[in-house]
Amino acid sequence: MKHPENNDEYKGLTVNSGVEQPSIVNPYLQRGRFARRKLTVSDYVEGITRGNVTILGQAVTLVESTNPQHQAIAQEVIEKCLPFSGNSVRVGISGVPGAGKSTSIDEFGIHVLSEYGGKLAVLAIDPSSEKTKGSILGDKTRMEKLSIHPDSFIRPSPSAGSLGGVARKTRETIILCEAAGFDKIFVETVGVGQSETACHSMVDFFLVIQLAGTGDELQGIKRGIMEMADGIVINKCDGDNVDACHLAATQFQNALHLFPMPESGWLPRVLCYSGFFGLGIKEIWDMIFEYVAFVKENGYFDHRRAEQAKFWMYESINEQLRNGFYNNDTISSLLPKAEESVLNGTRTSFVAAKQLLDTYFALLK
Ligand code: GDP
Repeated sequence: MKHPENNDEYKGLTVNSGVEQPSIVNPYLQRGRFARRKLTVSDYVEGITRGNVTILGQAVTLVESTNPQHQAIAQEVIEKCLPFSGNSVRVGISGVPGAGKSTSIDEFGIHVLSEYGGKLAVLAIDPSSEKTKGSILGDKTRMEKLSIHPDSFIRPSPSAGSLGGVARKTRETIILCEAAGFDKIFVETVGVGQSETACHSMVDFFLVIQLAGTGDELQGIKRGIMEMADGIVINKCDGDNVDACHLAATQFQNALHLFPMPESGWLPRVLCYSGFFGLGIKEIWDMIFEYVAFVKENGYFDHRRAEQAKFWMYESINEQLRNGFYNNDTISSLLPKAEESVLNGTRTSFVAAKQLLDTYFALLK
């Protein structure tokens, strides 16, 4: 369908035409039965499991909310959606800014949807978005083709809280998306720091996008990327850059041999491609499917998911303990003094921490 602005039939019907226009918003969409009243937990669950993306979006908003009432509903919805989740391939996609993540995700997404059908959700983990007041990762405007695809759901990174909090919300959103029938999940993350580790802890396949000639080969080894990657892909393998990309691929492949065989039994591969020109995309996706078949066969797929679930249980405990502690009014009022005493050397950090913790746990009794 042509965009209205490019469609001759719509010419002259622009807002500047001076003619008052009737509303073109479908009244059923605008005031559906769910829009009139507050949704209950079963409304959410029913809507999500029927694949209603409007309700899915609203549920994700609850998951991201810091309001305790919203959180309580969100947790119930997640729990009820859990039995319908799990049936997907979750792929983490990481790369430094400018590596070509959004260009590539647009191409990967369109490729998998047209080759395999199904539904694709693109989520993100970007703890920096709290500082920048607006997430770059998972931004719809950066994925032009996918953002208008009827079978895609794109959600930028939740912006509130610590990395742990942001990552938890993304993980919970995966559950809701799967319950809504999304069988392919991409989790985009920026290739710096801890967010990669968080992303790795919630996906089946971790794909690292690298560029040639940036010294990233060594950086990758330093940052522990080689241990995490199930596949390394060198982007921008086009024009004058082709030879450099192939050289980088050889260096990565050689570096991978320095590491012990991963627990999965899968030796990570290195491929070159061009996201911009859509070259080598099929090979990347074939590799991911081959990996999934391989680890489903040897049992590692389920093992990895079980280990991840265990990891997230501990992460949840840690986060709730931390939040409970820092959100406690008494503790908040004692913290500045404790900090001051540590800074001026009247108390050691250990003693100050212990006193605060003792106070907190005494309050709970
Ligand atoms: P992100 O920050 O990792 O999401 O990177 P973007 O997808 O925004 O890409 C950064 C820049 O690299 C943009 O100017 C893209 O047009 C360009 N780019 C992305 N993929 C390719 C590619 O395959 N080849 C070339 N030559 N440029 C690319």
